[in-house]
Amino acid sequence: MSRIVYVNGEFLPEDAACLSVFDRSVLFADAVYEVTAVVDGGMVDFDAHQQRLCRSLAELGIDFDPRAAGLLELHRELIRRNALNEGLVYLQVSRGVADRSFLQPTTCHPSVVLFTQTQSLLETAAAGTGLRVITQPDLRWHRRDIKTTQLLYPSMMKTLAVEQGADDVWMVEGGTVTEGSSSNAHIIRADGALVTRPTSPDILHGITRAAVLDYSRETGAAVIERPFTVAEAQQAREAFITSATAFVTPVVAVDGVAIGDGRPGPATHRIRSHYIQRSRERLQY
Ligand code: PLP
Repeated sequence: MSRIVYVNGEFLPEDAACLSVFDRSVLFADAVYEVTAVVDGGMVDFDAHQQRLCRSLAELGIDFDPRAAGLLELHRELIRRNALNEGLVYLQVSRGVADRSFLQPTTCHPSVVLFTQTQSLLETAAAGTGLRVITQPDLRWHRRDIKTTQLLYPSMMKTLAVEQGADDVWMVEGGTVTEGSSSNAHIIRADGALVTRPTSPDILHGITRAAVLDYSRETGAAVIERPFTVAEAQQAREAFITSATAFVTPVVAVDGVAIGDGRPGPATHRIRSHYIQRSRERLQY
């Protein structure tokens, strides 16, 4: 069955949905996006995603007001039209359509695209087996806090990791881990403390990361926000990633070195279960 997607004011079958070749997202990746998880037909952390979208738009000077555009309603309607019970809603807002020029146009209207993707989020193979990551230098630009559609380098690195028999990449800069190809990276030290890189332009300010840190602090766990090295990760008791698409997923090896006993650990399992439980209590319909 073909999906129904939303493009610039219309709900259309995916084969009929079009974006201009002169859209700035096509020519310059001049666009931002958000991905919202859907569980039991309800959205996880929609408000936080909308807030981050506002920030990304403001940083790029794209004049678009998500509230005025009724983005919440559009999400709901797309979930309804696609009968999406579990999966993802992707939203992309570009600066709009204009003649190709490096000078950013001031008169174009933002293009808005939404589509759904059915995907198992609660029960995944990776949650059971854990991920093996390899490290690579982080060669992305230095505004990784803006969620732009400029995803070529992380896509290349994820592909390289899979070609090398791993599952994903952790990127490294100045001797410390920044983040995964599309996730935030965390470790649990031998003393049980959760160590994670603080927010800065070095990383995307993950919505799942923020929720996991809040929930962990609520349970009294020690949370230390500082960069960590690859060696620290390899010596950690456990490691995991967070994202809207992976929730909390264990990492069991970094560059071929097993983390702990090389199997997903109990703390990560607890954090994942707690995250899922709390998210389900707060679903937005
Ligand atoms: N870091 C990067 C580079 C990402 O692409 C993503 C998600 O796409 C994340 C972190 C996790 O962010 P969130 O938890 O908001 O999905």
